[in-house]
Amino acid sequence: MKRSNLKIKLSALAIASVVSISTSFSAFAEQTLFTNVNVFNGTENKLYNNLNVLVEDKLIKSISSAKPATEDDATVIDGAGKTLMPGLIDGHVHIMINSNYDDIIPYEDPYDLGIKSAIVAKDFLMDGFTSIRDMGGPAFAVARQIKNGTIIGPRIYPSGSFISQTSGHGDFRGRFDLGWSVRGQQDLGVWEKLGFGSIADGVPEVLEQTRINLRHGATQIKIMAGGGGSSKYDPIDTTQYSVEETCAIVEAAKDWGTYVAAHIFTDRAINRALDCGVKTMEHGFFASFETYQRLAKEGGFVVPQMWGLSPELMNNPLMPKDKLPLIAQLAEMYKDVGRTMLDAGVKVSFMSDWVGEIENSNRSRRYEIYWRTVMFGGGKNNYDGNFEVLKQLTSIAGEMLALSGPRNPAPGPIGVIEVGATADILLVDGNPLEDIHVINGGYKEWYSQPAPSENPIETIQLIMKEGKVYKNTL
Ligand SMILES: [Zn+2]
Repeated sequence: MKRSNLKIKLSALAIASVVSISTSFSAFAEQTLFTNVNVFNGTENKLYNNLNVLVEDKLIKSISSAKPATEDDATVIDGAGKTLMPGLIDGHVHIMINSNYDDIIPYEDPYDLGIKSAIVAKDFLMDGFTSIRDMGGPAFAVARQIKNGTIIGPRIYPSGSFISQTSGHGDFRGRFDLGWSVRGQQDLGVWEKLGFGSIADGVPEVLEQTRINLRHGATQIKIMAGGGGSSKYDPIDTTQYSVEETCAIVEAAKDWGTYVAAHIFTDRAINRALDCGVKTMEHGFFASFETYQRLAKEGGFVVPQMWGLSPELMNNPLMPKDKLPLIAQLAEMYKDVGRTMLDAGVKVSFMSDWVGEIENSNRSRRYEIYWRTVMFGGGKNNYDGNFEVLKQLTSIAGEMLALSGPRNPAPGPIGVIEVGATADILLVDGNPLEDIHVINGGYKEWYSQPAPSENPIETIQLIMKEGKVYKNTL
């Protein structure tokens, strides 16, 4: 909006009646009109050609073949036949865990991590990600500063610390930080001091921890509901948190209008979580077909990181050599798991989930986009891997993030191009339904690739978040 116009309209408003105030307000809107674009709407396996998309303030106002009427000072962007699509969504990240574990304790404090989170945030946005869901870590400050416009980055849905039982997947205390008995248990480990994770046992403690996270502004709650690979004391087959504890956390989240996400792998743990109403299963790739069907029927989501089952994981320099045979064996055993999830009808969201050094995290995100097209393509139902992954990056992830209800920071639906949706928009040179590499910079490998922050994705030519343009190379 031009300043001189604003002044005139403001003085007009001062003497206007209530009725004319409401009509005058539409004239205040900032408008951007994209002409001559082919639209991927996030839900259908096709492009709608030659359209005009009008953005007003933070939302998409109209989509039409005919050029719509606009304000005199609207910005017009000639899309020149490029693909207009929703901004990308990463359903599971850890923006604050941005150093290798071994470097954090001796060398860094929370301010190092905070400063680096601003760099990670910018890298996400410049790769076309306009929303991310943070699944553990104190991402509240970086979310606030992005919202305030101090720094640039995606819209963040923070969980706060992940909540874990003693000896659970979030118990990163040293072996001798605890004594042999329950006394002394309240002493915080480094991970708890940094706000990455919180250990809470029993219904009163898990309720208090859930409410502490909500008090900070968590948009959902993340719990550790089963064992994992990166932790110290919990074999992957273990089930974590009792029914009483799990259900108490879910009730407290529901009372805040939101939901619980669980780090989880096995049938037993997923079924317990479902009994209590947990909505999203993070990782979740060792479940049976029947369990995926139950998850689908009950409206849940599975959020797997498929690099965990990829040959590239073997090239991860941080992976202990003695774990390589097990990784190879699991990758072979679960090579069909992506297609099994789709066969069962369960909704799948994209996640990159890499923690540690920033550039490796960026590389894993780009690699994950490509690797998923392999894991979710083909099979007996001949899935179109590109389309499945594009939905996971847009409309399905957007539907999942909407589970935050009144805690959802987006002004309208995300992950879709439709009237009334949030104006999170990419203009891409090429058709990602045919060539996924137009949105991942051509990465087919992980560690061998150049640093993404020095290697912008040239085919993503325009990035808009909530109606504001952050990149434009058209
Ligand atoms: Zn994670």
